[in-house]
Amino acid sequence: MNNREISKSLDIEKLPLIKKLKSLDEIFWVNPNLENSKLAIEKSPLTAADIKAAEERLNRFAPYISKVFPETRAANGMIESPLVRIPSMRKKLALDNGQPLLGDLLLKCDSHLPISGSIKARGGIYEILKHAEQLALSHQMLTIQDDYSILASEKFRAFFSQYSIAVGSTGNLGLSIGIISAKLGFKVTVHMSADAKQWKKDLLRSKNVQVIEYDSDYSEAVTQGRIQAEADPSCYFVDDENSKDLFLGYAVAASRLKHQLEQLEIVVDENHPLFVYLPCGVGGGPGGVAFGLKQVFKDNVHCFFAEPTHSPCMVLGLMTGFHDQISVQDIGIDNITAADGLAVGRPSGFVGKVIEPFLSGSFTISDENLYRLLKDLVDTEDIHLEPSALAGMIGPVFLCRDGMDYLRNNKVLDKMSNATHVVWATGGSMVPEDMMAQYYQKGSN
Ligand SMILES: *Cc1c(COP(=O)(O)O)cnc(C)c1O
Repeated sequence: MNNREISKSLDIEKLPLIKKLKSLDEIFWVNPNLENSKLAIEKSPLTAADIKAAEERLNRFAPYISKVFPETRAANGMIESPLVRIPSMRKKLALDNGQPLLGDLLLKCDSHLPISGSIKARGGIYEILKHAEQLALSHQMLTIQDDYSILASEKFRAFFSQYSIAVGSTGNLGLSIGIISAKLGFKVTVHMSADAKQWKKDLLRSKNVQVIEYDSDYSEAVTQGRIQAEADPSCYFVDDENSKDLFLGYAVAASRLKHQLEQLEIVVDENHPLFVYLPCGVGGGPGGVAFGLKQVFKDNVHCFFAEPTHSPCMVLGLMTGFHDQISVQDIGIDNITAADGLAVGRPSGFVGKVIEPFLSGSFTISDENLYRLLKDLVDTEDIHLEPSALAGMIGPVFLCRDGMDYLRNNKVLDKMSNATHVVWATGGSMVPEDMMAQYYQKGSN
């Protein structure tokens, strides 16, 4: 060990929650660096205008999306998911945990986003659309006033086929990037980590996406993808660990959620707090959504990240302040979890730093509990999610049990009966039926 590593390990051993993390116990952590949202927004390197630009870009592409993905036609080419109340699950959670849950419980079903069935259909697709737009604009093939459905033509496909795209992924980002890139006509390569599911690789190959498999974990797949892409000037690398575009694509979810809450006549204000629980891998998805939500709802929204006990990379980076300079392996955790998309050992440094003043806290959950909640949600609400998408579900229990100080300090303890809890369900609708049956079975043990 060099000096820096020694001081790193000595200091962090003093943090009480590190011991629990190392023992793979579930933890609930309140972020001491949460700031007043107004101040945090003023200081942030990314702004509401950046999110607005992303939203407008997605609107420009809506006619194209609607044309090439018929499942989005009813929503006029908008890639969006339902927000639903889950009262039976709420009862089940309260009963099983012996913990009264104050407030309403809803599920944001990104599991059912069109095109790729996970939250990655937000950021991943957005980043490729932005790249395609820039290429077409810079070659005078398109103006932003055009009807973008013209992109669904042989002329554009032939144009995009001169360029390639690469990405490293545990599965879901690969699905999103692969599907949209191939649809536009790009040559696309997905570098898959060892934990990526076979059905995802098969699906991509069936769509003419090149899939390269690695024996190693997510960070290695990303590194390899980055190296290969750098060698080819016509290749664009989607950098899940550092991408602002991915982040902004996710952030657009916030204004959409605001609209959906209004449609359900759910009020969010000083007397009606909103709590949102987001499964976190490298951080871009939950970070982007949380960042967007803070711009929209300010101090009236409280965002928490959820991670597997075997891959708590973001909370480790945040609580130590080391961000991407520390990995879960550094403290002896194996980064082996059934939660696709969350099997990440080292967080994005970019996201950790941007989100730090906006995040209320984090918690971890065991794989066994993910499966149990998966089964419970099927039994109570007949909604099928992949294991990672259940990570946020235990959040309201943690908050109502261990979050008293947080609620008191943020002056919402006496307003909890007016609260709304939104659990962000990040994936699952594309999981093959036999696989889902196995997941359900595991939750029954
Ligand atoms: C990718 C993913 C996440 C988390 O997103 P990050 O950007 O990696 O933090 C959560 N759930 C599922 C199902 C995912 O695929």
